Amino acid sequence: MTADTRPDDRTDLPVLDHWIAGAAASGDSERTGPVYDPALGEVTKHVRYAGKGDVDAAVAAAKDAFGGPTGWRNASIAKRQTVMFAFREQLHSRRDELAAILTSEHGKVLGDAAGEVARGLEVVEFACAMPHLTKGSHSLNVSTDVDVYSVKEPLGVVGIISPFNFPAMVPLWFFPLAIAAGNCVVLKPSEKDPSVANWMAEVLTECGLPPGVFNVVHGDKEAVDALLVHPDVASISFVGSTPIAQYVYETATAHGKRVQALGGAKNHMLVLPDADLDLAADAAVNAGFGSAGERCMAISVVLAVDPVGDELVEKVRDRMGKLVTGDGRGAADMGPLITREHRDKVAGYLDVANDDGAAVVVDGRGVEPDGAADGFWLGPSLVDKVPTSSTVYRDEIFGPVLSVVRVATYEEGLELINGSPWGNGTAIFTNDGGAARRFQREVEVGMVGINVPIPVPVAYHSFGGWKASLFGDAKAYGPSGIDFFTREKAVTARWLDPSHGGLNLGFPQNQ
Ligand code: NAD
Repeated sequence: MTADTRPDDRTDLPVLDHWIAGAAASGDSERTGPVYDPALGEVTKHVRYAGKGDVDAAVAAAKDAFGGPTGWRNASIAKRQTVMFAFREQLHSRRDELAAILTSEHGKVLGDAAGEVARGLEVVEFACAMPHLTKGSHSLNVSTDVDVYSVKEPLGVVGIISPFNFPAMVPLWFFPLAIAAGNCVVLKPSEKDPSVANWMAEVLTECGLPPGVFNVVHGDKEAVDALLVHPDVASISFVGSTPIAQYVYETATAHGKRVQALGGAKNHMLVLPDADLDLAADAAVNAGFGSAGERCMAISVVLAVDPVGDELVEKVRDRMGKLVTGDGRGAADMGPLITREHRDKVAGYLDVANDDGAAVVVDGRGVEPDGAADGFWLGPSLVDKVPTSSTVYRDEIFGPVLSVVRVATYEEGLELINGSPWGNGTAIFTNDGGAARRFQREVEVGMVGINVPIPVPVAYHSFGGWKASLFGDAKAYGPSGIDFFTREKAVTARWLDPSHGGLNLGFPQNQ
């Protein structure tokens, strides 16, 4: 980070650079944007916004690092693993340091930030198994004296574009696998909480990663667009809102790239009458208000099957009364929202709820935060009897507003879930194994929890939703991630001897 003077109300703030070819780089673009501490409501630094020239420089650095006899694509498996194991150790032992940076720009409470790092760390550990995961296969003597073998090779330069809500975990879903498989990376993190990406870049360098294998360009649409159309970028991994995911998918595939684009969500939790309502209420509160509801796997709708609605709402309300909203560095359960504008937008849904005839049971606008007055606060909010025609039900609110929709039957609940344009995550709460099994078979959602409210798969299974929650057919990490960051080459080999001579224009057949 370099000291600089920017045209803003605070001119003494530091400016966060890009990270290109193994070092901080200020780039050519004059554009910057503010980075807030959401718990203080103050700008604490600025971040550079890359133009096309800066993206070109990062891609060129990655391309140089990839190719050539000493390039990363030719680095031995042992060398790549040494870096990955070292990175694993650093991330593990310095988790709290990273969590503190994360909380200062995102706002989530420190324990949650450390949890995010831990889930990202899982993917690094999975990437440590890359020698085994990319071994390929070999068939001996498929025809007389002919062998066939398949090998997995890296793609080249891969682009990653990540959202604000998991500034550590989401990049970690992708780059450890990409790098361990021999690719070189250009990451464009969210401009709202960019520092985590630079911290990881510096640590990777300390771990022995050669310059140019991992690059970070900061910025907005201009940087993203430059990556999406760049002829030297082989693939794009995107996570963010559905409209941008669709745009990224369509633009990058039209430019010949392999694309995985994960979008938004509206996750329902179906509570059957036989469920343990205390456990269901705990789960709804944890999954609804953790990280202030700014999780793509947050539960935002509870479908209460008659007759449990009144009792469940009471139990949820009771638990919400115990939550402390405040600065994530203190003793709070829930931090602020990411920006003032987003907080205002989320809070506006409580007026919509009133107008649309729902019952606002808890209005978080009255919260007394344990933090600075200017923080972007909104307390946990609960809205009951939400009509499914209301935008409170239909929109991805992405904040601490939990809706309850009353349904008469399992079938009515299932129909609502399957009628949603999104299909990221869902959960059923029941003690009936048969009902749970039926739900798991009938629900049209990519990740399903059975008495588990946030069913984020472990690193050796893949993460991804259905419908408008994922464009393309490649999920993140797990087996899908290995396939995404490698391309298979099938080799058919015969070592010649005189008996193989002669002309034959027919299609090759096994003999
Ligand atoms: P976002 O779509 O606004 O931004 C995501 C990325 O795209 C950022 O890097 C941003 O700079 C860039 N971007 C924004 N507008 C752009 C434009 N017009 N053109 C090109 N690039 C643009 O998302 P966000 O607000 O940062 O994150 C929240 C969203 O991400 C929510 O919808 C959430 O559900 C979703 N999300 C999904 C998953 C998942 O796995 N499905 C995970 C995390 C977050």
